[in-house]
Amino acid sequence: METADLKGSPPQVTDQARRLLLAYLSTAEAQSLPYSKLARALANGEVTAQMGMIAHEEVLKSPPDAYRDAACASGCAFCCILSGEDGGTITGAEAARMHAALAPLAGQPDGRDWHAFACPSLDPVTRTCRAYDARPIICRSFFSTDAAACEENANGGEADGAAVLSSHLIYLAMHGLIRLALAGVIKVPSYSLARLAAGAFSGHSLEHSLTAARHPPRMLDDARKGSGVALARARRR
Ligand code: SF4
Ligand code: SF4
Repeated sequence: METADLKGSPPQVTDQARRLLLAYLSTAEAQSLPYSKLARALANGEVTAQMGMIAHEEVLKSPPDAYRDAACASGCAFCCILSGEDGGTITGAEAARMHAALAPLAGQPDGRDWHAFACPSLDPVTRTCRAYDARPIICRSFFSTDAAACEENANGGEADGAAVLSSHLIYLAMHGLIRLALAGVIKVPSYSLARLAAGAFSGHSLEHSLTAARHPPRMLDDARKGSGVALARARRR
């Protein structure tokens, strides 16, 4: 982990991710956290999510100008149309939190009653998130200066305006580094937010929903590279 590179991630992003992970590992060592617990927390994404939130809060202390000018508002939900192949990349820990928040809503109308590819967590009438406090990093990171661009992009366009906070790249890089470090020891999966939420609305158990939502391994790398390209495009504007 101390020297590994992640193809497709900007080197400074990989370095920031590495620093956060090494800080976590140092604290875990100081607290004598048992190896089995540490490996589980790394593999299920608890560490990625926890340290990702620290990176997120750090970025929000001095956000980019575009974030200050964002057009985002309650009820504006084109960014919740998850039509990409990955369905919104999340970790197992985030998936578990989402499932716990959504399970009581099983059987109710969901976001797909508004748009076929909308996140099921979305209220189809108010177009607000019904798992707001449990929403994963990806939902906290996306913003746009132009809601019309988001609508266009949700329908397959490539309009300018939408962007992600750099902390999202750091979060994805952390999960990638953990996967590299634990290769051959324990699997470090990622999951589809859309499929996980669909499982919860269908009344399926967490285990069943996780199985259905589990990504093939390449999906995390694809999300990492795709987010890097999106951030680079946003910075060029
Ligand atoms: S990212 Fe786009 S669709 Fe989502 S709230 Fe902001 S402006 Fe609206
Ligand atoms: S979890 Fe909430 S914020 Fe995230 S995509 Fe789904 S409805 Fe939108």
